[in-house]
Amino acid sequence: MKIVKEDNVIKKNIGKVDLKIALCYPNQYRIGMSCLALHYIYNLFNSYENVACERFFLENNFSLESQLSLSKFDIVAFTLQFELDYINMFKILSSSKIPIDRKKRGINHPIIIAGGPCIIENPLPLSNFVDIFFIGEAEVLAPKFIEKALSLKNIRHDLLDFSSITGLYLPEAKNKTKRVWVENIDDAFYPTIQVLTRMYDKSTKPIFSNSFLLEVSRGCGRGCRFCLSGYVYRPPRYRSIRKIERIIDEAIENHKISKITLVGTSASDHPKFKEICELVLSKNLLFSTPSLRVDVLDESIISSLFKGGQKTATIAPESGSEFLRALINKPIPDSLILNVTRMFQRNNVPSLKMYFMIGLPNESIKDIETINIISSKILESFKGLLKLSINPLIPKPYTPMQWIPYIARKEYTEKVQSIKPLKGKGIDISIGSWFMGCLEHILSLGTPEFLNMLADLLIVNDLTNWRSLIRRLKLNIYDYSRMLTANVDENPLFNIIDNGVSISFLKAEYDKMMSALFTQPCPNTCSFCGVCNQ
Ligand code: SF4
Repeated sequence: MKIVKEDNVIKKNIGKVDLKIALCYPNQYRIGMSCLALHYIYNLFNSYENVACERFFLENNFSLESQLSLSKFDIVAFTLQFELDYINMFKILSSSKIPIDRKKRGINHPIIIAGGPCIIENPLPLSNFVDIFFIGEAEVLAPKFIEKALSLKNIRHDLLDFSSITGLYLPEAKNKTKRVWVENIDDAFYPTIQVLTRMYDKSTKPIFSNSFLLEVSRGCGRGCRFCLSGYVYRPPRYRSIRKIERIIDEAIENHKISKITLVGTSASDHPKFKEICELVLSKNLLFSTPSLRVDVLDESIISSLFKGGQKTATIAPESGSEFLRALINKPIPDSLILNVTRMFQRNNVPSLKMYFMIGLPNESIKDIETINIISSKILESFKGLLKLSINPLIPKPYTPMQWIPYIARKEYTEKVQSIKPLKGKGIDISIGSWFMGCLEHILSLGTPEFLNMLADLLIVNDLTNWRSLIRRLKLNIYDYSRMLTANVDENPLFNIIDNGVSISFLKAEYDKMMSALFTQPCPNTCSFCGVCNQ
């Protein structure tokens, strides 16, 4: 990786600290540096005087801070945001000569820990490779973990001691645990000093460039039935305007920034989103937010956003069909989408990106063709570039979709083909891979067996890519994915990890989905999912 120039790097005397932690983002630098979780954990671990935390990405074999190799650290911490990054995690370990099989690691090897949405969703596929999983939010778990690690003579020898901490899952201890979260995010740690990349080339330019990442909310109570984040980050929590202003003021004091990126499970759902936009503008900063919920947008929010420097509006109707939107508990009428796109046009928004999924329950070719219809209607008033991102539905565990099978390849291909006529009309269409979607489904809903089957191949052969590994394994991934869905009620995951949302609630939501019945958003109306009243 080309050396980048960064501001606010935390560099300690690595030989003098009590605990050395390697923080690994198993993908490119430019993606990892745009991930708020990485900044959180980096600052949180480094907030302990006697702990040094240094960063690794897929491209670098040595830590960015002290140029130390991975095997020299006491702890290697992975933040896993995407299931398909698991293979990159294996590449990083194996290129550092750390055995990927946890049982083959010796007393002098670092312990491997992992957290992030994929782990909260389902740690089981990685249970042969990771020593400790973080099931929940780092602000709660990291201090307990660090305290325990500093108190032990040898963390590998005394590994099982960590199983006493609620929220940590150790495959070796086979302990049951439950998800933990921050009750009041105003009181939680916030990284008000973030590493910013100052000099970069195309390969190292972070997705959000030099903007400061500001989390305005966490969790979402809308209850969209396909959405993992909506289920694993419950309950919804909103940062207060007072706290947001304090963070912005500190960000201005600590960085040379001109832009803020507002992030959150559903940032534009913050009840004071409009005030937040006005606040940022009043501080002479530009801002953007990755995704917008159409039913909270109005002319003044759109005008502030695009005055704030945003170039692309991103919305997610998920389906072209109003009926299917009702079925997934996102009942946005076409008229609202068209109204918002007219507002985008009045505010000269250069491009509009829309996300759609294929493979929803009870979906027909006619439903897919509604994507063509709504796109054509949008183009009657919207004159910018229209980008359609079409992806297969990946049914996730801990959502009512966990009982829905992944779409068959033939059906996906046929449905995708029915969207093609739009090409040539100035619409940019990107189609997600069926194969990668199927793998993601297996890794989301899976048990240890799948990656265990791959382990020998992973260790002995090249670690090039998923496709070549699956080819060598000679596994029909579609049949395997169907088998996981058929046996979901017996999946050991639900006995080991208590995510907070009750299975009876998920089953009730599944039944309501099949009748296209609406569930009110929380916290305004509590539907007793089980999270708050444990
Ligand atoms: S218990 Fe009620 S308020 Fe809490 S997350 Fe569940 S639905 Fe929302």
